[in-house]
Amino acid sequence: MEVTQIEKIRHSLSHIMAQAVLRLFPDTKLGIGPAIDNGFYYDFDFGDQDFSEQKLRKIEKEMKKIIKRNLAFTQEMIPREGAIERLKTLKAEYKLELLDGIEDDPLSFFITGDGEFTDLCRGPHVQRTSEIPIDGFRLIKTSGAYWRGDEKNKMLTRIYGYAFETKEELETYIYNMEEAAKRDHRKLGPELGLFMFSEIVGPGLPIFLPQGNILRETIEDYIKEKKKEYGHQFVTTPHMAKSDLYIKSKHWQKYDAMIPPINIDGDEYTLKPMNCPHHFQVYLNEKRSYRDLPLIIAENAVVYRFEKSGELGGLLRVRGLTQDDSHWFIRPDQIGEQVNVALELMSEIYNDFGMTDFRAEISAADRDNMDNYLGDPAMWDEAESKIEGILKTKEIEYKVNPGEAAFYGPKIDLQAKDTLGREWQLMTIQLDFNQPDNFDMTFTNSEGEDEKVVVLHIAILGSFERFMAIMIENYAGAFPLWLAPTQVKILPISGEKHGEYAHEVAQRLKEQGIRVEVGDKNERIQKRIRQAELAKVPYIAVVGDKEAETNTVAVRIHSKQDQGLQTVDEFINNLNEEINSKTYYLND
Ligand SMILES: [Zn+2]
Ligand SMILES: [Zn+2]
Repeated sequence: MEVTQIEKIRHSLSHIMAQAVLRLFPDTKLGIGPAIDNGFYYDFDFGDQDFSEQKLRKIEKEMKKIIKRNLAFTQEMIPREGAIERLKTLKAEYKLELLDGIEDDPLSFFITGDGEFTDLCRGPHVQRTSEIPIDGFRLIKTSGAYWRGDEKNKMLTRIYGYAFETKEELETYIYNMEEAAKRDHRKLGPELGLFMFSEIVGPGLPIFLPQGNILRETIEDYIKEKKKEYGHQFVTTPHMAKSDLYIKSKHWQKYDAMIPPINIDGDEYTLKPMNCPHHFQVYLNEKRSYRDLPLIIAENAVVYRFEKSGELGGLLRVRGLTQDDSHWFIRPDQIGEQVNVALELMSEIYNDFGMTDFRAEISAADRDNMDNYLGDPAMWDEAESKIEGILKTKEIEYKVNPGEAAFYGPKIDLQAKDTLGREWQLMTIQLDFNQPDNFDMTFTNSEGEDEKVVVLHIAILGSFERFMAIMIENYAGAFPLWLAPTQVKILPISGEKHGEYAHEVAQRLKEQGIRVEVGDKNERIQKRIRQAELAKVPYIAVVGDKEAETNTVAVRIHSKQDQGLQTVDEFINNLNEEINSKTYYLND
């Protein structure tokens, strides 16, 4: 595989960091040190030496000294026996252990400069240290890491560094990471009263609080309405079913996140891990003809997954999640057309949520091994080429990964970028040529014969939990008006004197379906304005004598200048317009 220059830089920096560490802490033993997505790391065993994170700046300085000497990286191939000797002299016991897993003979070493530093490594690196932008890297943090990832082994100290080709790129990245930490939904969610976890309810089982539930319902109502416009028919299916259902669908045998079964009246039941086989029962409930297709069965349904407790995190990984699931039952000749429709629906929806920068990955079949796949190879060919054609027309950047498809059908995964440029895995379209066999799902074709239907599994948001986490982070909790749990806060200057007018205005807004609260606690107005700002309420309307006399409100938009006086009618019109257009003002 082609190694890019930045990957070489990152990898070379890990060597240079190890060299610098050995200069400063000569008794250190080296673990491994690869390049990673945003930089590099190296695992060190500092033994009894006094190491603390405060030393990172010192190591960084030492690294810069090494880089400035413009040293060359040279490869040396050493026969196995000699390599073992060499590692013994270097007291590189961890590296010696690694040799067990490497069969190469001779072994590749890389030497920095005139031999001050040598590492067992296949490369590649930059030619000389002068290729490394001296302002493009920074050591960020340390963490504990078990040698070879095994908790039975010794805990080493992993030092992480970021590395980019320019100082600007590095700084932007650091800024974005800091911004991301501030936006962390696990922090913002409880702060804004959106969701909570309870020890006794259990990990991975979020509870949505009143404010968070409004956000959730708003998203849910919106998505339901959109999907209905696109012909989805909604159903409701139970949270559990006999294990037999999943044995028939083969999930039981293949899917490893099933919740262990429970026994009821001698039958085994389980909580549903996915909705597909339930929706298949809906399909099978009537005889279908080619004219009935596509038939789209949709449900916003809770499914339960056996996730390990160590892997749970906020709303991104949970044990109970609500998918905006849909199953499209289509004729084989409708694949291209219907994938196109699904992508249309997706872009409409994501546009409304302020995400417009997409990238797709197609998991395709391995052309040389078509025996491994179910269904007619011609159908695969056609499906894959149609998908590519659609993505091209839509100008969505895509990558084809041959051999990545499941045996039962190709898949499209869509990633979108948020306001910080972070990519999120969002919608999936999974074509399925197998479940129609498992459940004998057919339709009567135009010749009057039974023909196998094709199933598309499509979740546009994925799960509401995950999507809410993304929205909280994307907007940093300052939601656009249409999504904000509280849209307007009305603050009377004096609760006693102007409270009645404040409630009158609130009533008029409520009649328009606007989510409004009155903040008439007996506190100074400045303090109440500040609280509303902290709660990230999009609009604050302050009312006093003048406003009450003229039937107006003094309007402030979250983290923006005062907007001045508006009559209540104007205010309502402006709010409605902003809600309906789903406008989003970027916070500055
Ligand atoms: Zn290397
Ligand atoms: Zn499904």
